[in-house]
Amino acid sequence: MSGSKHRLKAIENVRTAVSPASFWSIDDAPGEIFGSNVFSKAVMQKRLPKPVFKSVMSTIEQSMPLDPEIADIVASAMKDWALEKGATHYAHVFYPLTGLTAEKHDSFFEPGGDGSSIAEFAGKTLVQGEPDASSFPNGGLRATFEARGYTGWDVTSPAYILENPNGNTLCIPTVFVSMTGEALDHKTPILRSQQAMAKQAERVLKLFGHEEPDAVVSFAGAEQEYFLIDRSFFTARTDLLSSGRTLFGAKPPKGQEFDDHYFGAIPERVLAFMFDAENELFKLGIPAKTRHNEVAPGQFEIAPMFERSNVAADHQQLLMVIMKRVAQKHGMECIFHEKPFDGINGSGKHVNFSLGNATEGNLLLPGDTPHENAQFLVFCAAVIRAVHKFGGLLRCSVASATNDHRLGANEAPPAIISIFLGDQLADVFDQVAKGGATSSKEKGTIIIGADTLPVLPTDPGDRNRTSPMAFTGNRFEFRAPGSLQSIAGPMVTINTILAEALDHIATEIEALTADGTGFDAAVQKVLELVISNHGAAVFNGDGYSDEWQDEAAARGLPNLRTTLDALPELITPESIELFSHYGVFTEREMHSRYEIAMEQYALSISVEAKSMAEIATTSILPAATRYQTELATNVASLVAVGVEADTSTLDEVSALIADLRTGIASLKAALGADVGGSVEDEATHAGKDLLPAMVAVRTAADALEHLVADDLWPLPTYEEMLFIL
Ligand code: ADP
Ligand code: MG
Repeated sequence: MSGSKHRLKAIENVRTAVSPASFWSIDDAPGEIFGSNVFSKAVMQKRLPKPVFKSVMSTIEQSMPLDPEIADIVASAMKDWALEKGATHYAHVFYPLTGLTAEKHDSFFEPGGDGSSIAEFAGKTLVQGEPDASSFPNGGLRATFEARGYTGWDVTSPAYILENPNGNTLCIPTVFVSMTGEALDHKTPILRSQQAMAKQAERVLKLFGHEEPDAVVSFAGAEQEYFLIDRSFFTARTDLLSSGRTLFGAKPPKGQEFDDHYFGAIPERVLAFMFDAENELFKLGIPAKTRHNEVAPGQFEIAPMFERSNVAADHQQLLMVIMKRVAQKHGMECIFHEKPFDGINGSGKHVNFSLGNATEGNLLLPGDTPHENAQFLVFCAAVIRAVHKFGGLLRCSVASATNDHRLGANEAPPAIISIFLGDQLADVFDQVAKGGATSSKEKGTIIIGADTLPVLPTDPGDRNRTSPMAFTGNRFEFRAPGSLQSIAGPMVTINTILAEALDHIATEIEALTADGTGFDAAVQKVLELVISNHGAAVFNGDGYSDEWQDEAAARGLPNLRTTLDALPELITPESIELFSHYGVFTEREMHSRYEIAMEQYALSISVEAKSMAEIATTSILPAATRYQTELATNVASLVAVGVEADTSTLDEVSALIADLRTGIASLKAALGADVGGSVEDEATHAGKDLLPAMVAVRTAADALEHLVADDLWPLPTYEEMLFIL
């Protein structure tokens, strides 16, 4: 089928399709299905001998080391439960640095000697797996002769059943490490960084008089934005298929100004999808709420309830898998790319985070008493220091070829990392900076720990949607992460830079009190120092404005515009010192991550560039030249009978065809260029040569889309994809 026929067929399909009702049955009460496919605490309590259950819980809740003795018993209980749930296979699920989720499936059943089959699942199989690691990126961590990698059970993240039409699978969340124990995944560092942060947070809590605080953990709740389009359109666009975004497409006449989409009515078809997706997520113990329409047409949001950040990261990955599956069942495609449609708002994944534990509750919640408030201010101050001192690393944690299309584009925070506190909290810190000056906004003098400290706001009042890091009353919201990325990277960075900041603050308070300063005065002094040294990162204004670009530069804040600018942050001496000091990454691991990120960046752009050259050559150019012939024939036949012919469209089309040819030739030349061997060479070439060459091709092609006869145009248009659901 030729390109345009394919497109017209897709439109036909969509127009005549009967939208499926929800597969969700109203009889499945949410209360009963929630977590029904999870090997949860309740299931373990019922199925494990008491001492074994207690031992597992001490690992999960108090971060005690896992007792290897219990593995066989847990494995056996897990197997029985999974078989009852119809599982035939088990899989160690891990999160390699491609950003995807990987699974190694094995059958529970092994042949018995007598021709029967027996279900086998030993403790050692639960605890450790050995997938073929050679196909996952390792950034030079594994020489090929030791290509093995191991998966190891993460007890803190619950196992679950993934339903499949041809047999269910017991999924066991695992870490993925090399033979020498180096991290090859996103999970290992998140666990390490939790531990580092917990240790320093505990020191601070002890200073505040909490004798035996529970392990502090970071909590994360991610708001996931996504697009839905009909699958017929999706499959008619090889660019979406190969790179997740449209590489061509003129802006629709009706674009975002079609603003009744935001919070507007959700199409019935989308609602049916949302019901089903929520139902599937509920079964997996992922409490997710689907949400209002987002700013762009065809764009929506889903936000799971916050959980411990390592579990939240796993659930976030699983959520993306489930959403894609369920959408396909409904004849739609769920698109997580940060910028699938040029000129239309992109998608982010706001990562809300807080710190806390069972005994202390949320440490970022201003309390009712001055003492609680002081503790809250200390944790806030830690965030301020962390964001200021390591803004470059935070930027780096959201760097990817795909997110580059969104960050700083007036729809997402700029690449400058600043922190928004809200008026009242900013005012409190202003006063702290002045050593406890008399407040003009609130009565009394703010001296930390004294009774006059005003009750701090839990409602931040106005929202600042332009800040990359905003205080929202009981948590911070990191708004820079892209919709496609794992939240593990940002959370590893957040945990680690908070470990450093809390360490610093604890050390300072300890030193002052050791010198005889009273505790309250010491806290006051340290807060004062933090805010005067790091207050430059606090910004409550409009992050999208041009003035902020200038002001941020004057304040000395880094402005790392692209991934190429941001990734080198990973291997600065300061970053290496930070991550290795807190035991999150070794220097070798940092270098490997840097290499992999560079490689992924180059790879993702070169895949797009190839796909673009192909589509331009085989679909767009033929459509344009056919139309050119049609126009030329028309002109010639008019001239032949002596009618004056208007050649303006022909001229315009011909000029654009010439531009398109030139663009394709340059793009192909850039693709064939010899750029040298290092990952930096490849990445720089991708960012500095391929991307601009792609822009030239697209500009000509999109202009042609406005001219070429509609019945010849090969690709479903933006208007078709975004407005027909
Ligand atoms: P918004 O007002 O930004 O739309 P919501 O109240 O819906 O936000 O919450 C957004 C996300 O923030 C959700 O995933 C939610 O679970 C998460 N969240 C709420 N409180 C906390 C907290 N204390 N720590 C971490 N995440 C939180
Ligand atoms: Mg939000």
